Amino acid sequence: MFAKPFLLQPRTVKETGNRKTVLDEPYTLFPDRDALLLKDFPVRVKVGDSLYKQSSGIVLSPVNGIASLEHSEEGSKIRIVQDGNFVGSKPWVSRTLQKDEVLETMDRLGLVSLDFPEHSLSAYFKSKTKTKLILLSPFTKTQDVDFLSELKKSQDCHSSFLQVLQSMFPEAKIKDYIFGLKPPIKNYSYPWGIPEYFASQTEKLSFSRIGEVLYLGPETLYNLYRALFADFPFIEREIALYFLGKNGGLRKSGSTIRIRNGQSLKFLFEDFGSQYSNFTVNSFYEKNPVREVQKGFYWDIRQHYSLIFLTHYESQRREFPCVECGECSLNCPTKANPMALVSSFGNFQAGLCMECGICTFLCPSTISLRDRIRNWKEANHGF
Ligand code: SF4
Ligand code: SF4
Repeated sequence: MFAKPFLLQPRTVKETGNRKTVLDEPYTLFPDRDALLLKDFPVRVKVGDSLYKQSSGIVLSPVNGIASLEHSEEGSKIRIVQDGNFVGSKPWVSRTLQKDEVLETMDRLGLVSLDFPEHSLSAYFKSKTKTKLILLSPFTKTQDVDFLSELKKSQDCHSSFLQVLQSMFPEAKIKDYIFGLKPPIKNYSYPWGIPEYFASQTEKLSFSRIGEVLYLGPETLYNLYRALFADFPFIEREIALYFLGKNGGLRKSGSTIRIRNGQSLKFLFEDFGSQYSNFTVNSFYEKNPVREVQKGFYWDIRQHYSLIFLTHYESQRREFPCVECGECSLNCPTKANPMALVSSFGNFQAGLCMECGICTFLCPSTISLRDRIRNWKEANHGF
């Protein structure tokens, strides 16, 4: 298991399971508008009970407590006031898996594909019945957290899973870059965790063919193995913290932190709010809104994988004119020539662009090439 998370207060996540773990804020979940409620609220719930079902799969209760449904202008929310113990991690115990139980476990324990989070994991598997290629990748999308080293501790579980995987997809070739094959690079570098890029570099597949592959990255496998070999529900996620200072330097915290679904970030904001008044989630490439620490936030493990604290200054970034330095096109891993979108140098190769965001990140004029790319693709539908 992971080393003990840093920064966690006794009242938040402590796996000894006593009443000290009660939080001072209820867990708050935000079902999609078309979600199907699976309980009559208010109701007493236990960790892992199914609360509602939506397109990304079944969402489970992260704690024991009293769950109630509230409606507001922004939609509905489910608030759970914790009244019991946390369920801690259990060791993984390798065993022979049966085909039928794999999909059943995915649904019962609320798993999603964390490589393609819009799909529940069982729906993702079911959509690949005709696949000829299964790719097991050692890299997560952003590599915020190193799940590979966790998987490497459990080779016997991995072998059991490979056996059942082959029986579920007898026609498919499994290419295992976790234990068997060596990926073309030794250490992760961006954008190797993006499924399209990994498949293009290892299998020479064009980006548009990623749908033909069953792709499983290490975070998806980590949560799947927790479910299959320790019966642990998908109710929490290991995340990384970043800090962007006034001078623009981005610092990553040395440790990761485990946060439960719907958990309030109040305890983190109390620690960092005086230095960093704003935050955003995931990466800058995704352009999630910059929010104020003061207003609070509840974590959604299906959508959020990292937290970035910002100084007020950095939240006010604006664009300057292109200085034609060429950094964007020079560093584009697929040679899509994004510079063409803001200058007269050549043509933008939209079919090669996988929206990795490197060009946006490197631009000294802070031009959001990512927005230009999205607009271009929308305006030239089908290219
Ligand atoms: S154009 Fe930009 S976003 Fe697209 S692949 Fe190249 S670097 Fe990535
Ligand atoms: S990196 Fe920015 S400033 Fe440099 S050529 Fe590209 S768009 Fe222009």
